[in-house]
Amino acid sequence: MTVEKFHVGKTVIQLVKGDITEQETDAVVNAANPTLMGGGGVDGAIHRKGGPKILEECKKIRETEWPNGLPTGKAVITSGGNLKAKYVIHTVGPIWRGGNHREPELLAEAYYNSLKLAVSKGLKTIAFPSISTGAYGYPIEKASKIALKTVKQFLEKEDKLEKVVFVLFTMHDFKIYKETAKQIF
Ligand code: ADP
Repeated sequence: MTVEKFHVGKTVIQLVKGDITEQETDAVVNAANPTLMGGGGVDGAIHRKGGPKILEECKKIRETEWPNGLPTGKAVITSGGNLKAKYVIHTVGPIWRGGNHREPELLAEAYYNSLKLAVSKGLKTIAFPSISTGAYGYPIEKASKIALKTVKQFLEKEDKLEKVVFVLFTMHDFKIYKETAKQIF
């Protein structure tokens, strides 16, 4: 089966094998880069399917809030354009540089700040991709532990979210998250 469910308090944590651009959650998270101008992987897929409105809003954010780019670990929100999700939360994960350059801390911040932003906007459901484990090269076993632990810690203090989905693009990634989740939840 390619759906797994866990619980933290009243919140459901779901792992699914799938495509982040197809999710019907209130928000989907984009594994963006600091330019916020699009890129490959998740970023490219979201902008392709979401259409130009998302990029326009990203440009405004660059002009106003983050003229030098979005720092690693921070998160911002735009509308979802043509996606089923109403919003896109853009966050920047760390590039893996061996593990001694604050990568774990920065990856945790990317998840934490995305969750915090979702709650501050009154959203109830959010879907994450596996941030940093594509082009940014973060080993997925390590990244999955940080992703799931950060969500767990957040939900233990904050019960306003109904559902947090992790969307894994390949069967291999899905299985790794599933094994990690069994240890954490
Ligand atoms: P990063 O630059 O943060 O590493 P990537 O987008 O390159 O981000 O990859 C992050 C993860 O998302 C990888 O595991 C990749 O396989 C996966 N991925 C790529 N496209 C999609 C998609 N459409 N939906 C969900 N996950 C995706």
